[in-house]
Amino acid sequence: KPVDLVSLCTILIDQFKQVYDRPIILHKNSESVFIEGDELKLKQVIIIFLDNAIKYSTDVIEVFLESNQHKGIIQIKDYGIGIPEEDQPHVFERFYRVDKARKRDSGGSGLGLAIAKNIVSLHKGEIHIQSKEHVGTEIKVIFSLRN
Ligand code: ATP
Repeated sequence: KPVDLVSLCTILIDQFKQVYDRPIILHKNSESVFIEGDELKLKQVIIIFLDNAIKYSTDVIEVFLESNQHKGIIQIKDYGIGIPEEDQPHVFERFYRVDKARKRDSGGSGLGLAIAKNIVSLHKGEIHIQSKEHVGTEIKVIFSLRN
């Protein structure tokens, strides 16, 4: 089924803003970004990324939605504690969590990103992570658009 990432993100961002009282800005280059997929699962992916951005940063969170002829791209960017370079290759593994000591009491099981990766691959998408300690983290998911 076609799922519109713009309306999905708009609804979720509104809910997160209300619950956590944090600024979250949506930037988009088009009014809709339809991809073929499972709405509930895609919703879960966005929740996992927003939830991490909330947990591991205190500043504004930015979400970028972009589409061109071939791809739908969603980026979630925070300006938080970041992920050390040596941990970055592992954060998508089940139960992997970066050094507990450096974290606030944020809970978490280390499953979020593993689940997100799984769902994205089910949709034949790619996840890229870019992060720098004490600077922030950017997660980018690229989906092929239905044709
Ligand atoms: P949960 O299962 O509740 O999401 P979690 O946040 O520990 O728990 P993952 O979402 O899988 O688990 O993330 C794995 C680890 O990657 C986290 O423990 C955290 O150390 C690191 N991480 C994930 N997202 C971010 C982020 N936006 N900024 C900094 N570190 C992050």
